[in-house]
Amino acid sequence: MWVLPGLIFYMLWRQASRSIQARMGSGGNFLSFGSSGAKIYADSDVKTTFADVAGQDEAKEALTEIVDFLHSPSKYAEIGASLPKGALLVGPPGTGKTLIARAVAGEAKVPFFAMSGSEFVQMFVGMGAAKVRDLFKQAGEKAPCIIFIDEIDAIGKRRDTAIGGNDEREQTLNQLLTEMDGFDGRKGVVILAATNRPESLDKALLRPGRFDRRIQMELPDLEGRKAILKVHLARVKHESVDLSIVAQATAGSSGAELANIVNEAALRAVRQGRRKVTTADLEESVETVMAGAQKKNKVLSGEEKRIVAYHEIGHALVAAMQTASAPVHKITIIPRTSGALGYTMQVDEGEQVLLSRENLFNRIATLTGGRSAEELVFGSITTGASNDIEQATKLARAMVTRFGMSEKYDMMGLETVNNAYLGGDNALTCSSETAAEIDNEVLRIVREAHEKARGILSAHRALLDEAAAFLLERETITGEEFMRILRKCESVG
Ligand code: ADP
Ligand code: MG
Ligand code: ZN
Repeated sequence: MWVLPGLIFYMLWRQASRSIQARMGSGGNFLSFGSSGAKIYADSDVKTTFADVAGQDEAKEALTEIVDFLHSPSKYAEIGASLPKGALLVGPPGTGKTLIARAVAGEAKVPFFAMSGSEFVQMFVGMGAAKVRDLFKQAGEKAPCIIFIDEIDAIGKRRDTAIGGNDEREQTLNQLLTEMDGFDGRKGVVILAATNRPESLDKALLRPGRFDRRIQMELPDLEGRKAILKVHLARVKHESVDLSIVAQATAGSSGAELANIVNEAALRAVRQGRRKVTTADLEESVETVMAGAQKKNKVLSGEEKRIVAYHEIGHALVAAMQTASAPVHKITIIPRTSGALGYTMQVDEGEQVLLSRENLFNRIATLTGGRSAEELVFGSITTGASNDIEQATKLARAMVTRFGMSEKYDMMGLETVNNAYLGGDNALTCSSETAAEIDNEVLRIVREAHEKARGILSAHRALLDEAAAFLLERETITGEEFMRILRKCESVG
């Protein structure tokens, strides 16, 4: 009990004294705030170009002007135009914000000063502001150039009136604002910043003359995903692969996730002693990234396996029997490291942007299909549906509170979403009585969907048995095989 605090204190002290020594050694005086002592290096030979950034055409277009400005600032100066001093890259994590900022420097062939917002904050008190000052001074000497502040929300968070705000951060922010104002915009220094929490930024940062240009980076659509896969596949040896299958199966994935999928596929090829990546590698790695690796040695008892098989076929069958749901692509009962004992993969061919109430309701019914099959066949229920329950409830809740899809609340908004780019946390905006009624409404929807699923399955009981037996034998079946059983049974019955 007593040793630990002492030890921690000792370690803290040792670290502090070390960095003081380091500072003294490098000639900086750590008590005077005049210089941060830390050298900021510019990368003057950035190789990244717009060709490395796939999709994101709107963002590229918006940044092309900045590239042109950096190429020939005089052209703009002559006419008296000054370009925006700063542009803010906004979007979910992994959409290529950092990448595209580097690409701007690569395209313009100018030095690139990159710092992450958190680097300013972790300094000693007062050092953050000094570092900002240094950064701008050095950039001024190297103009034309780019200053890039990644994750700017670390210093640019809204200054609130709460007592005892974060002094250090505010000083750094104030310094940044001052430097941006004091800057001659025609000299050819462009400031780029990136964040995935734009709504938390201080309003002063966003006013004209500062980061007044906002460049939106979105999660890629079907074509975008294909293009990103292509860019990353070009870096690995591969056979001719069918990108559209992979792109369809990865709806909602970010560029970073797609890059990871390609890399996992290459690793799999190496593991299996092959020289080239195949379509099968890519498909398997999609599943590895989404659901974890296959768990080869996980032993399920015979009975458990049967339950899982019926559960998965339950999902698939309910999906197949409804008109407005995505086709089944693959069903498997090989356990995954994520804890999934099996899963049913549905893949939409196109990209659905608008979802109707029917779409959503059918999706909930599909989610309840697994449990429904267990009830119907075994007369008992298992813990296997926990993830389905979570998702179904989330969807039903969103239908009521955000999409105005319940009769009861018509088009009344009952919930706001904060932090949309980081998964989002929801906050109810209604009274607690309404909150209780929302729960009832959600329950009603889920129950109705569950009943629908049960109805579908009991109407096609023979089909359920046959498909489950087939899955049990094969462990993994394709959507095509599943549909074949379905058609065969239909024509017999
Ligand atoms: P962010 O800064 O938005 O979180 P990054 O720029 O760090 O995302 O992206 C991480 C990685 O994901 C990049 O290094 C790149 O390999 C890949 N990536 C993301 N978006 C794209 C894209 N549009 N084209 C090609 N690769 C991308
Ligand atoms: Mg980034
Ligand atoms: Zn399930």
